[in-house]
Amino acid sequence: MSKKIIVLAESREGALRNVSFEAIAAGKKIADGGEIVSVLIGDNVSELGQELVAYGADRVITVQSEKLKQYSSDGYAQGLLAVLDEENPEGLVFGHTALGKDLSPRIASKLGSGLISDVTSIEEDGGEPVFVRPIYSGKAFEKKVVTDGLIFITIRPNNIDPLPKEESRSGEVTSLDADIKDLRTIIKDVVRKATDGVDLSEAKVIVAGGRGVKSEEGFEPLKELADLLGGAVGASRGACDAEYCDYSLQIGQTGKVVTPDLYIACGLSGAIQHMAGMSNSKVIVAINKDPEANIFKVADYGIVGDLFDVVPLLIEEFKKIKA
Ligand code: FAD
Repeated sequence: MSKKIIVLAESREGALRNVSFEAIAAGKKIADGGEIVSVLIGDNVSELGQELVAYGADRVITVQSEKLKQYSSDGYAQGLLAVLDEENPEGLVFGHTALGKDLSPRIASKLGSGLISDVTSIEEDGGEPVFVRPIYSGKAFEKKVVTDGLIFITIRPNNIDPLPKEESRSGEVTSLDADIKDLRTIIKDVVRKATDGVDLSEAKVIVAGGRGVKSEEGFEPLKELADLLGGAVGASRGACDAEYCDYSLQIGQTGKVVTPDLYIACGLSGAIQHMAGMSNSKVIVAINKDPEANIFKVADYGIVGDLFDVVPLLIEEFKKIKA
């Protein structure tokens, strides 16, 4: 049966996040030919609506207010619930991002609905969607179906391919005048960590360093390689604890969960807590001096050697390819 699906889009610094397009594609898999309505909340975001249409949204609703300039669960929940009141959808799709993880349980509880979080793929059984999600830190996968009520999922970034962008797609972009009541939390200022370049959680290529990188300066060749490949730098907790880099780069059970196309692990041992955050990467390359290092168990390609020899060689070769 065809369903109307609301997809929450996310923008940051005036640009849509890629997970918004992936969520539209996920919505299409659930909608069974029904309508995809993308909702964009913020301040001055209406000019982004057309891009959501180009990625497959049938309709876009923006909820804009000065009070929604910064994310707050209170403000965004008010904005989204106003849309849901009018639209009565059969399904909701959010990104499994910091925002999605914060907002989705609140909305689910307000609606009295269940929530399937961190979905990595959507299969089909007898015309009904089956949601696949990792459990036990990625060591197993479970499959879930919704038998009754609203379908509400969050999707892990980088796992569901967006639809191709087609500027010729047409769709209506409207704005909803939501009455956003005074917020209980006012964000006065946001101080961003200086992560130049690509967002780690959405990066297609990640070059990660561990304790073997040995110093803050040791990360420089990793940054150069990441830049060359249009990727981001990540780290093990070992490297963060040793103060070689910022904790915002930490990948793993207590850090970020990433699924890039290519993960290059340099001088990290592959502790189970680290692998919980990266073992679902599509291709894993490990560089480690120790041939017995655990990381080689999940690596598609392993290089036994000193990272300070191997990484410069990789940089040299990729420069030749790019030249
Ligand atoms: P090490 O284990 O010390 O490994 C360093 C590696 O570098 C070694 O394999 C060595 O052979 C190699 N090496 C050294 N020099 C070179 C060189 N020149 N060239 C090539 N290779 C070299 N860890 C995380 O990463 N993320 C998490 O989210 C996380 N959460 C945790 C949660 C809990 C509750 C606990 C208890 C631990 C958690 N940890 C986490 C820590 C984890 O258990 C490991 O201690 C940590 O991942 C080790 O970091 P590492 O691999 O960089 O260091």
